[in-house]
Amino acid sequence: MANRRTFLQLISQAPLVGGWFASSAVAAPSTKTPDYFASLGVKPFINAAGTYTMLTASLMPTEVMEAMSYASRRFYRLSEVQDAVGKRIAELLQAEAAMVTSGAAGALTCGTAACLTGDDPKKIQQLPDVTGLKNEVFVQKAHRYGYDHAVRATGARLVEIENAAELERAASERSAMMLFYNDADPRGQIHADEWVRLGKKLRITTFNDASADVPPVENLSKYLKLGFDLVTFSGGKGLCGPQSAGLLVGRKDLIAAARLNTSPYSDTISRGMKVNKEEMLGMLVALEMFIKRDHAAQGREWERRCGVIASAAKKFPSVTTEVVVPPIANHVPHLYLRWDDSKLRITPREVIQRLRAGDPAIEACPLTDDKQLVFTVWMLQSGEAELVARALTKILAKPV
Ligand SMILES: *Cc1c(COP(=O)(O)O)cnc(C)c1O
Repeated sequence: MANRRTFLQLISQAPLVGGWFASSAVAAPSTKTPDYFASLGVKPFINAAGTYTMLTASLMPTEVMEAMSYASRRFYRLSEVQDAVGKRIAELLQAEAAMVTSGAAGALTCGTAACLTGDDPKKIQQLPDVTGLKNEVFVQKAHRYGYDHAVRATGARLVEIENAAELERAASERSAMMLFYNDADPRGQIHADEWVRLGKKLRITTFNDASADVPPVENLSKYLKLGFDLVTFSGGKGLCGPQSAGLLVGRKDLIAAARLNTSPYSDTISRGMKVNKEEMLGMLVALEMFIKRDHAAQGREWERRCGVIASAAKKFPSVTTEVVVPPIANHVPHLYLRWDDSKLRITPREVIQRLRAGDPAIEACPLTDDKQLVFTVWMLQSGEAELVARALTKILAKPV
């Protein structure tokens, strides 16, 4: 129980003493959170771009924030939290085992380290020096990407191959892992099912990076069912969990070895990729919420938002719109706007700049070419599609 002094302090701070005191449901007096970022001069914006790390990716539901705040109030043994949260995540995803990592990139590092070291303490300590360790990681040429830096950080050496024959020829006792970048599947010659088959045949661990590949919710277990040994997902993209969290799921022995290669153990390659109890619990709660969500209703809402923005834009000369859903990563509606700039004298780049400079500020998808303006609507909050439509109308009405 609070002592008398703090109790009186609480009462004196409450703006409507009678009000909150009378209602027993209210546990604590309301304190107004200061607008910290405003006082620091950091401005918010409406996110019509998507789950970009640079744009702080996604927003956590209130329940996730509350779970993190709950977790912050007491001490717990970190390994017990990871054990329990991992077990529950594994059940949800029908995986042998799971752990919460520092984002998918952190999962790539400690997951790769697991393939290099197993549970051998000497080898774990030795990384990134790979003398005497198996350290070759196969990857298809078409699957090379920026995030493979997180794999190379362990001391692993990427060996590029393009087809099954090359892979079989190159496999040896130095082979540690076969990395698969899920979104690149259509671009490579060896597809997911064959990659898994080859991994089993050659007895090399297969790791699928499916970081940006939920929704759909089925993907959370699809790649394990296909036979991948390890799979990672970002926690802070479509799952709307903590931005600094991710999931590593798969074989029990590998998850155990991945855990030995990271925090809380000091002398490990991933020690800097720390995850505390708040992110672990927040990740679990976000995952549960994501699985339970009415995905069909959400899909209809995203369509509606695209419609709101598209119909505002289509009032202007020559504007055409198209909704595109990429097949694997970011599998959500992307609204494309195109126009003839001899009829509407503004470029997509200029529209993006004016949206960014507007009030409220709005971020559209980064420009890939200056032929179209692209929005995603899945990170918009209630009422924001209308604000985007209004801002766009204002800009297109005064193109120059
Ligand atoms: C975003 C992404 C990552 C990194 O994920 P984080 O959760 O931000 O660490 C890794 N791989 C792919 C394919 C991604 O899209």
